[in-house]
Amino acid sequence: MEITAGSHVWVEDQELAWVDGVVTSVNGNEAEVETINGNQVTTKLSKLYPKDMEAPDTGVDDMTKLSYLHEPAVLHNLAIRYGIKEIYTYCGNILIAINPFQAISHLYDTKLMDSYKGAQLGDRSPHVFAITDVAYRAMNNEGKSNSILVSGESGAGKTETTKMIMRYLAYLGGHAAAEARTVERKVLESNPVLEAFGNAKTVRNNNSSRFGKFVEIQFDARGQISGAAIRTYLLEKSRVCQISEPERNYHCFYLLCAAPPKDAIFRIVAAILHLGNIAFALEGEDSSVLEDDKAKFHLQVAAELLMYGYILALETALCKRNMVTPEEVIKRSLDPLGAAISRDGLAKTIYARLFDWLVKKINVSIGQDPDSKCLIGVLDIYGFESFKTSSFEQFCINFTNEKLQQHFNQHVFKMEQSVYQEEEIDWSYIDFVDNQDVLDLIEKKPGGIISLLDETCMFPKSTHETFAQKLYQTFKDHKRFVKPKLARTEFTIVHYAGEVQYQCDQFLDKNKDYIVPEHQELLSTSKCSFIASLFPSLNAETPKSGKFSSIGSRFKLQLQQLMDILNSTEPHYIRCIKPNSDLRPEIFENVSVLQQLRSGGVLEAIRVKCEGYPTNRIFSEFLERFSILAPEVLKENVEENVACKSIMEKVGLSNYQIGKTKIFLRAGQMAELDGRKAKLL
Ligand code: ADP
Ligand code: MG
Repeated sequence: MEITAGSHVWVEDQELAWVDGVVTSVNGNEAEVETINGNQVTTKLSKLYPKDMEAPDTGVDDMTKLSYLHEPAVLHNLAIRYGIKEIYTYCGNILIAINPFQAISHLYDTKLMDSYKGAQLGDRSPHVFAITDVAYRAMNNEGKSNSILVSGESGAGKTETTKMIMRYLAYLGGHAAAEARTVERKVLESNPVLEAFGNAKTVRNNNSSRFGKFVEIQFDARGQISGAAIRTYLLEKSRVCQISEPERNYHCFYLLCAAPPKDAIFRIVAAILHLGNIAFALEGEDSSVLEDDKAKFHLQVAAELLMYGYILALETALCKRNMVTPEEVIKRSLDPLGAAISRDGLAKTIYARLFDWLVKKINVSIGQDPDSKCLIGVLDIYGFESFKTSSFEQFCINFTNEKLQQHFNQHVFKMEQSVYQEEEIDWSYIDFVDNQDVLDLIEKKPGGIISLLDETCMFPKSTHETFAQKLYQTFKDHKRFVKPKLARTEFTIVHYAGEVQYQCDQFLDKNKDYIVPEHQELLSTSKCSFIASLFPSLNAETPKSGKFSSIGSRFKLQLQQLMDILNSTEPHYIRCIKPNSDLRPEIFENVSVLQQLRSGGVLEAIRVKCEGYPTNRIFSEFLERFSILAPEVLKENVEENVACKSIMEKVGLSNYQIGKTKIFLRAGQMAELDGRKAKLL
């Protein structure tokens, strides 16, 4: 569209990302714009986007209905909807969900569930129930497994959304209410247990899940829930020992303090608390002893709780290490720091095993249906993360997101194609961006970062510095790898969602999946059979203690298995957005929302759309809006598609396509038509 004085436009703004205004004058390829917040801005014409003056005040419930599909329009649409408590909006088949940080009345009640049952997507206002219903129906009708992938940053509402999906699935595929302890009940009841042990208060979310979760709901031939399996990914172990104010440890530690000692599980949780209170002091030059009577008390209680019987054995396991020489085994003393690291390692290992045990136990209790043909998988997994210091955890999380992004891109591309195919129009030229190069950088075997990390970990003399050097050498020409200026142990990956700088310092330690043999021995001989069972004696099948096993490689394998499952399903995507970092209702921060739309691939999906035909209109709608441009056409009494064509020809636009029921417009053509119309009026 030609931008002239008087045009309504969107212009970039430091604080608001985009702000609307009116062009006051045009000079060559520059324009002066007076913005609604009272600024006078001079900017290049090419940086302005037209504002749709006919857009409804309440926004549109699907981005693809926007007449002008561009970044500012998308952002504005979400903002006005959020303002009227419409937290759900579609972008084609993707559901965008903006955390309201307040209960919205009737948004999830049974009556609403009833109204979504069997409804076509788009017939009712956007909702997580609508997406779930589509998945369930597709599964029943086509006999194919489906999956719902929920992503977003911490606090965006993923876990709450996941719970609503499960509730709705239980509603659709549940059993008669009279049946006690149904599968779906057990699935729903597993949530509070998992949250007690896997969630904690963080600065980003008061109930933050510190693990990834994939719940597989199995259905029988009648579409009833017949079993379920829960898989978890990457529990944040370090939280057991290190928390920075004002964050908290896992909820269970606080629940324990409020509850009577219940059973073996709580013995372990209590033991971990006591372990945390054991302090060490220096003895002699480089040995350590318990600091004082308080430390002795906690050691004693921990030992009793873990049922070793031998207090001394626990103390030795914490303060000493076996040195194996060809001749003999020598006990070497650890200094207080070493003893504290040993203590924390023990606490983390016990907690991680307890968590894995819980998940297994829940799975056994819910039960699997070996005959199930179809499943609906629900993925609740951490979104892309970039912090001031990003470490190994962020590396794994962002790797996950690269994988999911590739899956998402392929899907979006396929969906886009299918719309064109349905309308039988030509679509072959759309450019498809692939992030395979980032994935190769991370996971290629041999030669990727994970491989290099494993190699480094196996070589006894390596340090994080030698690891960094190795990375710099290997990837100096890689487009997605950057060595920051003056960096010695940092590296940057150019992810699809932006650059992230990683700190190598703890990569080696965090990658080693290692239990100190002395700890293993101690716990496997516990008189508490439950604890002993968490630490089965090493046999030929488990890797020998001391032998290297890598968290990174294991995670990569887990992720590949997840992708294999997802690839065998029909996916549906829900992108959760956190509207502000204060966790407060009614505040919508443009810049941060845009960044999340980018990370979630929503902007990429829109780009793919814009490369093709971002706007389409049913013939009659198109004629209603634009017949004024060629009134003579309507009089001719021709077919609607011919009339549409005539209007386009008269205006002099080409490259559009006429489908079976719709006209497909290239980016900008809608604005061009509106511009012509405005001149006439
Ligand atoms: P995530 O799992 O993405 O980190 P959560 O699902 O735990 O985020 O959501 C964080 C908090 O936001 C919740 O504890 C709840 O207070 C609020 N919240 C999230 N989704 C909703 C919703 N749909 N309605 C009301 N409050 C919500
Ligand atoms: Mg969560």
